[in-house]
Amino acid sequence: MVIALSLSLVLIAVAVLVVGYVSGADPAVAGSSAGASDAATETPRPAPEALPAPATVESFDKAARSLDDPTSIWVVVNKLRPLNPQDYEPDDLVSVPVEHTWEPELRQEASDAVVAMFDAALAEAGLELASNSAYRSYSAQEEVYDGDDLTTARPGFSEHQTGLTMDIGAASGECSLAECFAETPEGVWLRDNAWRFGFILRYPADKTDVTGYSFEPWHFRYVGTELATEMHDTGFTTLEEFFGLSAAPDYE
Ligand SMILES: [Zn+2]
Repeated sequence: MVIALSLSLVLIAVAVLVVGYVSGADPAVAGSSAGASDAATETPRPAPEALPAPATVESFDKAARSLDDPTSIWVVVNKLRPLNPQDYEPDDLVSVPVEHTWEPELRQEASDAVVAMFDAALAEAGLELASNSAYRSYSAQEEVYDGDDLTTARPGFSEHQTGLTMDIGAASGECSLAECFAETPEGVWLRDNAWRFGFILRYPADKTDVTGYSFEPWHFRYVGTELATEMHDTGFTTLEEFFGLSAAPDYE
């Protein structure tokens, strides 16, 4: 405010000087200064909104990372976008030090984010989370795929193969890998807070026609805090819609 006020005073002073100069000058000079005079007389009423506002929405660079490279944390994997190569295996997998049913592995960056998120859930809300499934190799996905394309991915088309995805549940096991997880305190907390740690709820309830999967309130995909925050702030809930990619309801 102080800066805005001083700025207005300076502009008023300039306007007075210009007007004074023009009115006292000869017609030739006055004519050439008319533009400046008009501009100056309009400036003494600057509104606060004239100050530059943070332009986060406009400045987000959607091309900053690859959507195709499986090593990119923005890679988009769906029924139309298999991993390339289809037997891709991350080279920085680590064991994730959290509660679990199956020993979880993720890429280092995603693992660190999971640990921070689980710690925050406990510290902020007293909730204990656990991993049900994380990285799954091409061959592990062959075991998991049950023939139902709405609930499981074919090998080479699973986000779990990126090493950036975890199926998360309550440590109690309540509603584990079930739609009712959405109503548990753990499910609600994750839905509301995962973005702060760089995760998105990848298969929302109302986006089956876009993602190709039914609601999975337990399936969280790491995309980094920059993208997760941008999607949270702009209201986009799928990678397909945010990046303007084709909806992927079915395999080709
Ligand atoms: Zn999953």
